Amino acid sequence: MGRSSAKSSASARSRAMEAVQGRQPVHSTIDFNTTHMQDVFGSSVFNRAAMKSLLPRNVFKALMRCLDQGEQLDPSMADVVANAMKDWAVSKGATHFTHWFHPMTGNTAEKHDAFLVSADDNGAAVVEFSGKFLIQGEPDASSFPSGGIRSTFEARGYTGWDPTSPAFLMESTNGKTLCIPTVFCSYSGHALDKKTPLLRSIEAVGKQATHLINLLGNKSVKRVGCTVGPEQEYFLIDESFYMARPDIINSGRALFGAKPPKGQEMEDHYWGSIKERVLAFMMDSEVELYKLGVPVKTRHNEVAPAQFEVAPIFEYSNVAVDHNMLLMEVFRKTAQKHGLRCLFHEKPFSGVNGSGKHNNWSMADDQGNNLLEPGNTPQDNKQFLVVLTAVIRAINKYGHLLRASIASAGNDHRLGANEAPPAIMSVYLGDKLTQVVEALIAGKKEIPGGSGVKLQFGVSTLPDLPRDDSDRNRTSPFAFTGNKFEFRAVGSSQSIAWPNTVLNTIVAESLDYMSTEIEAELKAGADINVAAEKVTRRVLSENSRILFNGDNYSQEWHDEAAKRGIPNLRHTVEALPVMVEKDVKELFQKYRVLEQDELVSRYNIMLENYCKTVNIESLVTANMAKTIILPAALEYLHRVAQTIATTKAAVGAVTMVEQEKLVKELAEKTGNLQVAIDKLETLSREGHGDEHEESDHLVRAKFYQSKIIPAMNHVRAIADDLETIVDDALWPLPKFREMLYIY
Ligand code: ADP
Ligand code: MG
Repeated sequence: MGRSSAKSSASARSRAMEAVQGRQPVHSTIDFNTTHMQDVFGSSVFNRAAMKSLLPRNVFKALMRCLDQGEQLDPSMADVVANAMKDWAVSKGATHFTHWFHPMTGNTAEKHDAFLVSADDNGAAVVEFSGKFLIQGEPDASSFPSGGIRSTFEARGYTGWDPTSPAFLMESTNGKTLCIPTVFCSYSGHALDKKTPLLRSIEAVGKQATHLINLLGNKSVKRVGCTVGPEQEYFLIDESFYMARPDIINSGRALFGAKPPKGQEMEDHYWGSIKERVLAFMMDSEVELYKLGVPVKTRHNEVAPAQFEVAPIFEYSNVAVDHNMLLMEVFRKTAQKHGLRCLFHEKPFSGVNGSGKHNNWSMADDQGNNLLEPGNTPQDNKQFLVVLTAVIRAINKYGHLLRASIASAGNDHRLGANEAPPAIMSVYLGDKLTQVVEALIAGKKEIPGGSGVKLQFGVSTLPDLPRDDSDRNRTSPFAFTGNKFEFRAVGSSQSIAWPNTVLNTIVAESLDYMSTEIEAELKAGADINVAAEKVTRRVLSENSRILFNGDNYSQEWHDEAAKRGIPNLRHTVEALPVMVEKDVKELFQKYRVLEQDELVSRYNIMLENYCKTVNIESLVTANMAKTIILPAALEYLHRVAQTIATTKAAVGAVTMVEQEKLVKELAEKTGNLQVAIDKLETLSREGHGDEHEESDHLVRAKFYQSKIIPAMNHVRAIADDLETIVDDALWPLPKFREMLYIY
């Protein structure tokens, strides 16, 4: 049974090996020997330079006021902008345009329309793009997730131009498409995307930050924005291996695979020299990203074999979000051109490190000053310490919500495993800054052991805070790294829009709180320095439990965190319900980031996503175990049994105890595998049954988490064990030792 299929898929594995050996590095479309980087960067973007040269002066100025000061653009100018945009795009070879948006699927969406509107009387093409098409589109929303909002509101969706993120040209084999970044809402204005709440949260935190720093005396600041630089981890494997792994194709990760004999224990991959084909891929991707104005900066090998990282230069967060989505798309496409596949899954291969996204975050005022820069003068120190305190309070008060913002089935494999920050949110400040904070809390005017640095608001300066604190604590989920915070628990496949939305919102609330408290002190007659110092001291001491500089992976910290009452929401199903707690709903509503029904719809979508992901994985697991792995194991069992029989027939009485043991072991393990598959399939049917279909998403998600995942793990454990026993020539799936090492 299954013999021929086992044979043919085993040869699919060896065919994959052969294909990999024939691969060569692929050239990119641009040669930097003959073309200067500066001519490439931004060449596919309708950026400020393009606008300045193509728009009438008054329109350009109005558009700049819209971008820089948040003024609304006069709709009468939209026609002019649209026309210039179209001329620019057509001159570069575009034939179509699309509103480009971020629906709740976690991907981006696009529907292309030609610039061609009709033929004139002579039959010649008329090419047109009016302001109306630039500003608004009406995609049918009914096939995008709405999390229940749609039943109450219209099915029709609207996209609206977001002028704060520049339009760009997406190249494909046979042409270019003008992509216009947009938000996506329902008829009644409910957000159906990830961008709308992000933009609202940027406004909220900007407003609160501006108010606070004006209050502290920095009166010339009119606007504050958020800056983000997401470091992106990913895996690359050869496409032939990918094609022979239905699990990676369907669920983005290997659902089977014994640990390879060589993992990452030699620590030889991290920052190692980059293999030629991989480097060719990186450089080619960078060319495409440069064209799109994405400022990619660093590239290197990561910890796990076949794992890599790319980081851009930080940008304002709405653009950074778009650029991270573009980066992932360009990487996926370019990998294919190079005969590779790019995997963004949080844990594509068990047994080696998974992938995350380090979300570097700060705020900057309209004069370009970073609000988290400690600074050299008392004036700057005061503002820095008040803002820092606000962020610390935000994480202490809403860390569980921040943790929920990165909850997904994929990220559950990382958080808490000793390779990524745990699900316990804490803040790392580094030794020097911790001394400052401790001295402040204790009411000391001087830092103990410090070089006589006085600590008094408005009087003295902070000690020099080294940008690169020697102890770069990599285990902390939320670390202060010199002049920004690095939120390290974000999943590698996830859009950074939502975690940033949450971060901005909780910080907005804390900045608001700081202002309110300081204003109360001022009313009571205190001077601003005294007021700021008093409030900062109190808020720091009230929130100090969240500060932790030690090893976040250790058991001691888990125990200590429990003692301090810091939540440890280990997996998605535990974390997501935080989103719909009463005070969280009120928080989002108060800062006008999400109405309650918008928030609940997001909660539903995230739970549904979890169930769907686990469900697909469970179906693929059962199917592959049954139709690929079991037949291979049975074939081997058959061969060994036959060998014993023919040997005995040939030589008569001979002891073959060990060989018989192997037959028994194989018989027993294949039997166990069948039982485990049956159990998984029964549970999957139950998960789909009426009982769960009707009940709410949380009940279903709990079922998947507590029943389906263990059943899947059980099937895998037996299959992975068989992989180490069965004749290698019969094993049909590319093994980790191949996929992770051969390019
Ligand atoms: P490290 O390697 O220490 O983490 P880097 O200086 O390489 O730090 O920065 C990592 C990321 O943080 C980069 O994407 C960088 O652009 C970004 N970054 C630096 N400063 C800021 C800031 N003020 N706001 C947001 N991101 C920042
Ligand atoms: Mg970093």
